[in-house]
Amino acid sequence: MRNRGRALVAAAAIAAGLAAAVVTHASASVAGLLKVRLGGDAQATRLVMDLDQAATGKLLSDGAADGHVVLVLGNVSAQGGLSGNGQGLVRAWSVDQTSNGARLQLDLSPEAKIKGRFLLPPADGVDHYRYVVDLVAVPGQVRLTSARTTPVALKLRPQIAPAITRVSVPAMPARKVIVIDPGHGGHDPGALGAQGYEKDVNLAAALALKARLERSPKYRVVLTREDDNYVPLEERVRVAQRAGADLFISLHSDSGPSADVHGASVYTLSDKASMRAAKFVTREDWFMKASLTGDRGVRDILFDLTQRATKNRSAAFAETLVGHIDGHAPLLRRSHRDAGFEVLLAPDVPAVLLEMGFVSNRADEAMLRDAAQRDRLINAVGDSIDDYFAETTRLAAR
Ligand SMILES: [Zn+2]
Repeated sequence: MRNRGRALVAAAAIAAGLAAAVVTHASASVAGLLKVRLGGDAQATRLVMDLDQAATGKLLSDGAADGHVVLVLGNVSAQGGLSGNGQGLVRAWSVDQTSNGARLQLDLSPEAKIKGRFLLPPADGVDHYRYVVDLVAVPGQVRLTSARTTPVALKLRPQIAPAITRVSVPAMPARKVIVIDPGHGGHDPGALGAQGYEKDVNLAAALALKARLERSPKYRVVLTREDDNYVPLEERVRVAQRAGADLFISLHSDSGPSADVHGASVYTLSDKASMRAAKFVTREDWFMKASLTGDRGVRDILFDLTQRATKNRSAAFAETLVGHIDGHAPLLRRSHRDAGFEVLLAPDVPAVLLEMGFVSNRADEAMLRDAAQRDRLINAVGDSIDDYFAETTRLAAR
């Protein structure tokens, strides 16, 4: 791990995440999600979320790149979650509760595109609010990648008007979004070991973890880089925010002052780093003015609460992670540490940084470069992610 002095470049990303978090918490009341309905056909499809109060939506991912739409309704509660088979241009959908509100995820058919989103107030015999997402077919549309889901057969129903709906059947589990960040890359090689650079070890481990997680339909995995490219730290944070990440895990390999030092260690955001984020947030730039008007005291409390909740969840995951690695790979003494790494400074996403071992130690480097040995560590990381979400789901269901 190198490159630790970039508070300012990460600042814009922090502000973006913070604004979203604070705006949602500042809403006085929380709307309940009553039902999700789909109507329409393979030319035009309408998704309707029935709500008992007004709500606003924020599009984190419009699906243009991979057909996966992520929309967060900040002041909506969807405890327990909902999911269903698709219809028309929607192959599958799910709604689950996140710390930022209800999150709608859609897997679109290749030609689908979002045409519009809007809130309909009670009217025309309907006594509640409706948040509407309209999709339209763009024939010949090409995407960079396709969403990773089991394709659902499209039902062609050209006679049905978009407003007509049907009850949906649970099909797609509400997937947790895991963002894996392979440290360094491109002209930033990271630490140097006897056999090569840290950046390559990090990427290989990240791809292995992605493969491990994608064996389960429970996860959607997004990488901050998929090849030997340089990605700035603030962009890595933004990737996590755009993806609506439930967990951000940065993978690195250490180098130590002595070749004897070895073992994995886990870092979370420190109080010191939180203070730096808070300090930035009190600056009166345009973004703050636009999104954080109102009483400064309330604003500070909201930020503090958001940070604290995220820090607690980061620390909970870090402890789970250390517990799982123990016995599968060597651990550095006192393995969970607080640190001030900028890449962890997204206040609304639980985040940890895993130093998988020391490339400056011969045994650690050999372990990290051997697929079979490394997989023991990666499986332990995967198991800890399983445990973490099993626990958060259990707590949410109480
Ligand atoms: Zn590193």
